[in-house]
Amino acid sequence: MFGQMMTMPLLISSLIKHAEMYHGETPIVSVETTGGLTHTRWAEVSRRSRKLASALDYLGIASSECCGTIAWNNHRHLEIYFGVSGSGRVCHTINPRLFPAQLVYIINHAQDKVLFLDKTFLPVIAQLRDRLLTVQHYVLMSAKDEEAVSLLPGLLFYEDLIEQGSEDFAWPELDEQEASSLCYTSGTTGDPKGVLYSHRSTLLHSFAIALPDSMGLSARETILPVVPMFHVNAWGVPYAAAMVGASLVMPGPGLDGNSLLTLIDGQQVTLALGVPTIWQGLLRAMEQSASRVPSLRRTIIGGAACPPSMISTFRDLYQVETIHAWGMTELSPVGTVNHLLKKHEQLPEDEQHKLRVSQGRPLFGIALRLTGDDGEVLLPDSAMQGNLQCRGHWVVDTYFKSGDSALEDGWFSTGDVSTLDEDGYMTIRDRSKDIIKSGGEWISTVELENIAVAHPEVLSAAAIAAKHEKWDERPLLIVVKREGSTLSPEALLHFYEDKVAKWQIPDDVVFVEELPLNATGKLLKNRLREAYGDYLIKKDKPQKWGSQ
Ligand code: ADP
Repeated sequence: MFGQMMTMPLLISSLIKHAEMYHGETPIVSVETTGGLTHTRWAEVSRRSRKLASALDYLGIASSECCGTIAWNNHRHLEIYFGVSGSGRVCHTINPRLFPAQLVYIINHAQDKVLFLDKTFLPVIAQLRDRLLTVQHYVLMSAKDEEAVSLLPGLLFYEDLIEQGSEDFAWPELDEQEASSLCYTSGTTGDPKGVLYSHRSTLLHSFAIALPDSMGLSARETILPVVPMFHVNAWGVPYAAAMVGASLVMPGPGLDGNSLLTLIDGQQVTLALGVPTIWQGLLRAMEQSASRVPSLRRTIIGGAACPPSMISTFRDLYQVETIHAWGMTELSPVGTVNHLLKKHEQLPEDEQHKLRVSQGRPLFGIALRLTGDDGEVLLPDSAMQGNLQCRGHWVVDTYFKSGDSALEDGWFSTGDVSTLDEDGYMTIRDRSKDIIKSGGEWISTVELENIAVAHPEVLSAAAIAAKHEKWDERPLLIVVKREGSTLSPEALLHFYEDKVAKWQIPDDVVFVEELPLNATGKLLKNRLREAYGDYLIKKDKPQKWGSQ
């Protein structure tokens, strides 16, 4: 060999070191759980994450052990991301909206040794404490708070804890393949499954999401990650923001439209990321406000299908570009992002708009393919749908502590049914368990829902497969109307007439007060199927879907 390049492990600590060294003054604004804003900057986040790492040594937390967090998006959570993973421990972010039994399951399964919590979640954790078998230290993410100690005796306080740590802590040289963080899938059915990310997978994912045809992140951006840090690491934004030195605005607990609008305008946010339900709230708040969000240039929407009407509203009323992305916990999470290609620039606006609605094209590092029901690989063809599979540098191989590979033939089956065209644009048609099979033909619930929510009197909608004597299954629409609406089922069904083939129009509409959502704000369609699956056969009064 005549020469060689340096080998440096891809480590999460290198992100925060870089942010401190080259973007140290860049602001991080954070909404406190108790209200009010904290202003900090990357250099300070870095300094405090080193103190935290050192304090974890002092607590006796060994390398590779899991430290749980149950917290909002705020600056302390950011410090924990870097302090815990950077020092060789595993940052296990916990979704507080899980049912108590699931919280107990995942904390015990991960064998969390420390639990960092925001005050909001103190009551639930205090109640579960006796069932959490491995947690040695509970750390409230605040300064000392005597009232809190009465709820959870022995509670430690984050600000006291890091005071015990040294800022001279030196990040260890870890193996890049070591585990850095852990997320569990929502577990809509069965126990949640853990996905264990490595330093390497996290760094490669950060590079990929920062690219221009991806999220296009840079040091000129002020980013509002509304997507929670407890939901697939806020889509990797905290890491990638440190990599590019972007400014962050952490929204804390206030995720309602008005709070977000205040933050966007007050902090001059340029890019915001979240699931569609969050943006419904923001758009409603914007409707009632004089603000035209002048600083906001882009929103990135994923986690569930973004209705085309939402893309148009953002663009036409507020000049905000909406970028549709797709991913899942098993993919760290980003797999595809929607941008047009050069050849599309000449297309008329409505053609471009149609392309923007798909979930986008794979990032470098991710490969996609479709298989048919017999496992055969399908050729790219926008008219052909199949089971979506993927491979890549940041895709799960084996679920945490399961021992068995999650792959078939080297590919991960996503459980999504989609189309994939010749340019690699992927369009999700459905989760495979949600799709409707009517008389042997497939009907996409995503498409039916997108049309329903484009109706001005519809707030939210779910399409489900309801049993049918002749066709096996037929679409049934379950809808929450906007306040004061007098919309009838007939009028809503009429709205479908020029938008889908006649046989795809739902058979009926049921109006409800609210739709059941899971812990990540996604529709619980299995609940709806349980309650309304026989609706078309019986046509009598359905049962309510019950409480979560
Ligand atoms: P969980 O699998 O635990 O519900 P994830 O956040 O991992 O949580 O969800 C991944 C699933 O969410 C995907 O497999 C897909 O069905 C759905 N999803 C994510 N992004 C989109 C999107 N842009 N459009 C449609 N569905 C999406």
